[in-house]
Amino acid sequence: GFFLLGCFMVNAQDSTIQSSVRNVEIKVDSVLALMTLEEKVGQLVQYNGSWDLTGPASQMNNKQKEENLKAGKVGAMLNVLSVEATREAQKLVMENSRLKIPLMFGYDVIHGYTTIFPVPLAETASWDLEAMKRTAAIAALESAANGVNWTFSPMIDVSRDARWGRIMEGSGEDPFLTAKVAVAKIKGYQSDDLSNPKSIAATAKHFAGYGFGEAGRDYNTVHIGENELHNTILPPFKAAAEAGVATFMNAFNDIDGTPATGHKILQRDVLKRDWNWDGFIVSDWGSIPEMIAHGFAKDKMQAAQIALNAGSDMDMEGGAYESSLVELVENDKVTLDYIDDAVKRVLRVKFKLGLFDDPYLYSNVELLEEISFEEHKNVARDVAKKSIVLLKNENELLPIKESVKKIAVIGPLADDKDTPIGNWRAQGEANSAVSLLEGIQANINENVAISYAKGADLGMGERSFLMPLKINETDTSGFQEAINTASEADLVIMALGEDAFQTGEGRSQVNVGIAGVQQELLEEIYKVNKNIVLVLINGRPLEITWASENIPAIVEAWQLGSESGNAIADVLLGNYNPSGKLPVSFPRAVGQEPLYYNQKSTGRPSNPEHVTYSGYTDEKKDALYPFGFGLSYTTFEYGNLELSSEEMNNDQSIQASITLKNTGDVEGKEIAQLYLRDLVASTTRPVKELKGFEAVSLAPGESKTVTFEIDEEMLQFYNANRKWESEEGEFEVFIGGNSNDLKKASFTLKK
Ligand code: BGC
Repeated sequence: GFFLLGCFMVNAQDSTIQSSVRNVEIKVDSVLALMTLEEKVGQLVQYNGSWDLTGPASQMNNKQKEENLKAGKVGAMLNVLSVEATREAQKLVMENSRLKIPLMFGYDVIHGYTTIFPVPLAETASWDLEAMKRTAAIAALESAANGVNWTFSPMIDVSRDARWGRIMEGSGEDPFLTAKVAVAKIKGYQSDDLSNPKSIAATAKHFAGYGFGEAGRDYNTVHIGENELHNTILPPFKAAAEAGVATFMNAFNDIDGTPATGHKILQRDVLKRDWNWDGFIVSDWGSIPEMIAHGFAKDKMQAAQIALNAGSDMDMEGGAYESSLVELVENDKVTLDYIDDAVKRVLRVKFKLGLFDDPYLYSNVELLEEISFEEHKNVARDVAKKSIVLLKNENELLPIKESVKKIAVIGPLADDKDTPIGNWRAQGEANSAVSLLEGIQANINENVAISYAKGADLGMGERSFLMPLKINETDTSGFQEAINTASEADLVIMALGEDAFQTGEGRSQVNVGIAGVQQELLEEIYKVNKNIVLVLINGRPLEITWASENIPAIVEAWQLGSESGNAIADVLLGNYNPSGKLPVSFPRAVGQEPLYYNQKSTGRPSNPEHVTYSGYTDEKKDALYPFGFGLSYTTFEYGNLELSSEEMNNDQSIQASITLKNTGDVEGKEIAQLYLRDLVASTTRPVKELKGFEAVSLAPGESKTVTFEIDEEMLQFYNANRKWESEEGEFEVFIGGNSNDLKKASFTLKK
């Protein structure tokens, strides 16, 4: 047996939640009481498992790391990627260390483990929280069966800049929607009971502000004030904390002069004290010693001191805590209380995961045998088709008509089986997605002739993580074949967009158009055949102004994961009526970035066409496709917006209702969206903010009334008193099918 096991047998009848919380605390304290300072520091150290990487701590050789594991000087690992390897590492600890405190194994399971789901930005476009919870639960199961018990997901950085490569990893520009997705993902990963061997610990990251790097550059300085921080950046994190997320990860960026990793107010005051959250904060990769490069610490010793004092509990591969914390405590630079608090947080999560009962709980080969990958694929296809957004559909090109007998499938991404797997693909195999061409071929009527021409390459350079990509393709030698193929077809499906590794970490760009020679290819094809359905495969909002003016049908298909081609075929062939809505604004020109609907009004607000009204002299200021936008094969009509009362008292709520009618010929699903505006307040407020949404399915001709409840809590914001409060006065209510096309009413809040 294990040294600690006997002391912590829980009374089987003692099953209320409160008593189990109490039990965990008793266990945590009893372990803590046994620990030496060195053993405590060990719990705050995380090692990378791919031991040949040149991370800050990995100057250390494997032998030394092994010795440290045996000595109990390591609390967690990341990137240990097989059941065997996790068992090996766990065994080193369990068979050699004095206290036998099991390791946690973390990994970036961002949108699936083996079965790959849409990238998070895409999946958010489904607005289907149940589906998102389900895919997280599947990712957890596949991870757990491979030894991983902790994912560094969800990324809930609100991001409004298409230039930022990591926009693909989040839920887009809106704090409310991001918060909803955060909770769904966390519930999916963790289930109701972390000790369930099929669920794993989740991470809310990156705390905080990482999505606001200036000019869209990754890791860049973030200049936001307190108001923006609380009203825009923090709400998803607060929701994550309240949902019981096991861990947080801090961030590489500095925020208003303080690196997030050394940010005491954010970590200790806001997250741990005000939100009363009891999990642990892991640093981002090497972000503790990165404070040296920030010019915020002079050496590792000082970086460790700042980070620990600021509330960063675990050092991911930074080598600062392991080299410095013992000495810092001995020299009274860090208090033992702070160390104990950090260690308790780590132990608490380990107890909740059930690791003290069975350190090998998550390296269970039998679980792997139980998994139905076939079933997971079906879920992947289902969520992928729901994530597709129909941006334009003229001339009734879609769904593809029976009269279409010859289809040309063209473009560098048309038969690409890898790009849909996306970045941060965990153990998703290279080239394992169903390509668009394969999807069409497998699902279309056999008397339709399909021809294919690639036309051009994406022109990606080196794909490795540390190398910059080149998007300077100039080779047009494939054009003629594509032009010939297109000119003979009734309909052209063109698949253009971005390589899998064109978005993700370190992948910022100054251009967000259709890269390389793809735009030119599109224009050449258009000269010979105007019946084009443009299918976009990409991870960020793209600037597609020319296409939106010329191409009759545009489908945003993102990077949809393993079942990409089948899901796209479902939509193009009309087997699924598209219902996705954009979680992020699409720009007319990259110079508009950052671009988002929930902006403030300026002192020159009213006329969008007029340049002196805070616009541009050479382009409109609004989005090409706004937040919340997405078409269907049917049409929906919103009736009048009615409020149950034009006055609301503090403790009351009012109902906002609208009748939604399917005015087209086919059944469809519409995501009805509720927005609110606080007209006059103690700080300036956004022109509208999403506050609710509901999916409504309607048969042709059918109507339903959608009712949203509005209560005082929904009117609160971080105001001039530095509190979450509502303020009396007039509010506008909007309901509609996207952030730009809304019915309006108003009411007054009386306090
Ligand atoms: C990223 C994190 C990720 C970590 C571990 C960092 O570079 O910023 O999001 O979880 O690496 O792979």
